[in-house]
Amino acid sequence: MKFGGSSIATASKMKNVARILQRYAPSDRIVVVVSALGDTTDHLVETGELARRGELGKARKLLYKVQSTHRKIVPAVAGRGRVKELLAQIEHLNSELDRTVEGIAHLRELTPRSRDYLLSFGERLATPILAEAAATLGLKVRVFTGGEAGITTDDMFGEAKPLLEVSSHQIRQRVNPLWNRKIIPFVTGFIASTVDGSVTTLGRGGSDYTASLLASALGADEILIWTDVDGLMTADPRIVKDATVLPTISFGEALELSFFGAKMMHPRALQPAAQKKIPVRIKNSSRPKETGTLVSTRESQNGEKVVKAVSLIRDVGIVTVSGTGMMGAPGVAAKVFQTLGSNNVNVMMISQGSSEATISCVVANREVDRAVRALQLALMGQGFVEKIAEEKDCCVVAVVGSGMKGTPGVAARIFSAVGKRKVNVRMVAQGSSEYNVSLVVSHTDGPEAVRAIHEEFGLGK
Ligand code: ADP
Ligand code: ASP
Ligand code: MG
Repeated sequence: MKFGGSSIATASKMKNVARILQRYAPSDRIVVVVSALGDTTDHLVETGELARRGELGKARKLLYKVQSTHRKIVPAVAGRGRVKELLAQIEHLNSELDRTVEGIAHLRELTPRSRDYLLSFGERLATPILAEAAATLGLKVRVFTGGEAGITTDDMFGEAKPLLEVSSHQIRQRVNPLWNRKIIPFVTGFIASTVDGSVTTLGRGGSDYTASLLASALGADEILIWTDVDGLMTADPRIVKDATVLPTISFGEALELSFFGAKMMHPRALQPAAQKKIPVRIKNSSRPKETGTLVSTRESQNGEKVVKAVSLIRDVGIVTVSGTGMMGAPGVAAKVFQTLGSNNVNVMMISQGSSEATISCVVANREVDRAVRALQLALMGQGFVEKIAEEKDCCVVAVVGSGMKGTPGVAARIFSAVGKRKVNVRMVAQGSSEYNVSLVVSHTDGPEAVRAIHEEFGLGK
């Protein structure tokens, strides 16, 4: 079971989670994966940036907010007689956090490695507090960091990849003996460790991934993702007021949605689950009686909607490589992707003009500059590429549904729906799985495009 930051943001929410666990504990063997409280990770990201820029005053102020949130929750959650010990543990982490931020400010340097270390405090602070809430209700608990639970990764800080064989072996070795003694392991989501013990993170939203890695290693029957909405919905309810919950969805569809949905689920989280065919259920921690969404191997039935959901990924940019010399020149695309790949730029979407004179890639806003610089170095001045252009502040609208496969006219309906709302489409791509058609529009047009498509395919209430 993974509890998202929104499910544990306050003392009363933590107590609610403890009651959920109490209900499952007698009959099930559980591992609990815990995210950072509320917006903690965002605050830590910002604190790190402030410190790096030398704005130590502002950094300290924000840090104080994070620290006192955790400090204040302790007496409201811990059982009598346990407050002092838990508080000491939290204060110990808090002072380590102080030193980390001071160090960043002193050096004016925030490397991917020190950033991961800084971000790890969110989960490391949250997990012992939630475990204590469960212990207060009589459950036997043990707290682990991701690394202590056995999750070992490479050293791609910021987006580390788990070493599956080693991790699986270690996870089984560490968790099974606890279960035999009816102890529930509480594992920090999002963070793991390299072979030599440096803290890594699995990428933003990575607690989902932690959960599915553990589930896969332990041969779990089900993964429960507890969040603050009733399940996976036809669109982000913050954008589309009448979005509805999807009772079932296939792994293929959910993969497309999570990849493009950014916030809803970590894009790689479903891979281990899909591979082992472990069903994933997404449920609302404040309405646990609702059935939620079941993600499983079952493909959509005939008669279901052609388009199932529309998602929006913000803060992306387009990088376009162009030149008349590219026409018919073999290997240009390979060179483009190889360059981006070796500079750790993640390409989310690709399109190539049929004249072959342009190749456009969608990448995260923060990676646009790095991508352009790398491509300039690798490709300019060789005769075939004339220009490398960039456009920041766009978003991708992804339209997903396995029923789109082989159904003619879907793309036409999508484009006329957004066209009617005067939304200008900058770039288009269709996955060869045909589960997904994606468009890139400007930052300001994104929500309107989502609403237009949602309405066109009758996905609302
Ligand atoms: P957690 O703290 O549980 O990890 P997140 O904030 O990461 O929660 O993700 C849950 C939020 O994702 C919801 O509150 C909702 O606003 C947003 N969201 C975006 N797209 C969807 C979607 N298709 N279905 C449901 N929620 C979505
Ligand atoms: N706390 C981390 C984040 O905000 C991981 C997660 O919530 O899944 O990205
Ligand atoms: Mg999340």
